[in-house]
Amino acid sequence: MTERRNGEGLPQDKAMTNSIGAGSPEDVGQGVGEASELAEEATVGAGRRESGKTSFPAFDTHHPPDKALIDECVHCGFCLPTCPTYVLFGEEMDSPRGRIYLMNKGLEEEPLNDQMVRHFDLCLGCMACVTACPAGVQYEKLIEATRAQVERRYERSPEDKAFREMIFNLFPYPNRLRLAAAPMKLYQRFGIGSRLRKAGIMDRLPARVRAMEALLPEVPKEEKIPETTPPAGEKRRRVGILTGCVQRVFFSRVNAATVRVLAAEGCEVVAPAGQGCCGALSTHAGREEESLNFARKTIDTFEEYDLDNVIVNAAGCGSTMKEYGHLLRDDPEYAERAKEFSAKVKDVTEFLQELGPVAERHPLPVSVAYHDACHLAHAQGIRSQPRQSLKQIPGMDVREIREAEICCGSAGIYNMVEPEAASELGERKAKNVLAAGAQMLVTANPGCTLQIRASLKKLGQDMPMAHPVEVVDASLRGEPVETLLQR
Ligand code: SF4
Ligand code: SF4
Repeated sequence: MTERRNGEGLPQDKAMTNSIGAGSPEDVGQGVGEASELAEEATVGAGRRESGKTSFPAFDTHHPPDKALIDECVHCGFCLPTCPTYVLFGEEMDSPRGRIYLMNKGLEEEPLNDQMVRHFDLCLGCMACVTACPAGVQYEKLIEATRAQVERRYERSPEDKAFREMIFNLFPYPNRLRLAAAPMKLYQRFGIGSRLRKAGIMDRLPARVRAMEALLPEVPKEEKIPETTPPAGEKRRRVGILTGCVQRVFFSRVNAATVRVLAAEGCEVVAPAGQGCCGALSTHAGREEESLNFARKTIDTFEEYDLDNVIVNAAGCGSTMKEYGHLLRDDPEYAERAKEFSAKVKDVTEFLQELGPVAERHPLPVSVAYHDACHLAHAQGIRSQPRQSLKQIPGMDVREIREAEICCGSAGIYNMVEPEAASELGERKAKNVLAAGAQMLVTANPGCTLQIRASLKKLGQDMPMAHPVEVVDASLRGEPVETLLQR
């Protein structure tokens, strides 16, 4: 069982001490085997069934983690205090520096085994280490290459494989999600979850299933958006909008708000009917072929329209679409097109700030805590634009959340496949959100919204939540603040 690191006790202090001048992994003197023994004690899920399979050498020649990028790490440890898994476990091999060390070992002599994969699997891909690194180490490229190697070369246990297949055969497909939403509605309407809890049955279900149940969003009526929406007044831009998968089915109101705001700011908005998943979930999980196919299809779909920009309102999707140029670099048919496509991709708040506001903002006297989604703040460097979009609304009190750089534990599919670590991070984030004392929470990623809501619920709390663009939309439409606070 993981030792709790609540930021006040010894483990956290130890983590901080270790992070400052802790030396390189070589100084620490941990080989992979020794590190694994420590991880067995310190890392959640130590008792899980592993495959026992080993691949040697660890990596094949198709895009192994780049040695030149690995060598840029100077082992300074500045990234350690911002790494959520290091903060939780205090384990060198669950830090960015440790994982880079393991990648290097994989390139040299170590096989890819259960222990090494465990340390890679526990990484949330939050990229807080990229923000913190003074040497500019491109950890995002390293972990992406490593995850693809793991998915291709490592044989997961049958249970793990089946669970992941279930996720990847459901979430990227809006039509399948809609089918799943129907029984979910009944489940919620008849309060089956609370009955199972009261009967003690829920506690006997596997942790991953319980985590999924806790994260279930309310199934709303889907708001359809037209394929083309004209601008209000003079046309300033013609933009496309990614409607997403989970976003389209469970957060369609965010898409509808995005279209209204863009149109109010003078954009003609196109929502291509044939669009599918952008591939973000698959990319972050190392499912390379699948993610490339999603990327190609997305490029094909949006290229048919003559667009100035492609607007995204989900942080994880935006960060992946900005990477298409890199992901498709080997594909002669798509490499150049992918670069051009990526250059057009903008997060909605990034785009609104570049465009400059012209529509009138009505006052919204409300205090909001703004939560930085990792794939917006760390992966795309977008921090000021959502805050600025909120502050442009008269009466808005935007508050910061303590430990803003630490991930909430959502991280794509992380909170489903690593429920214990995700739960600890979620609870930590929920407490920090409550400490901000705001009336509502604002964040730009559906995963964060679900994770923080579930974590607040565990603490017996709840609060209104919205995407920044929903708040801007409420202001443009002159909605009363009470309506906003009902979300
Ligand atoms: S991506 Fe996040 S969890 Fe992974 S090593 Fe970097 S800071 Fe740690
Ligand atoms: S990844 Fe960057 S911050 Fe972390 S140890 Fe290496 S050089 Fe230092």
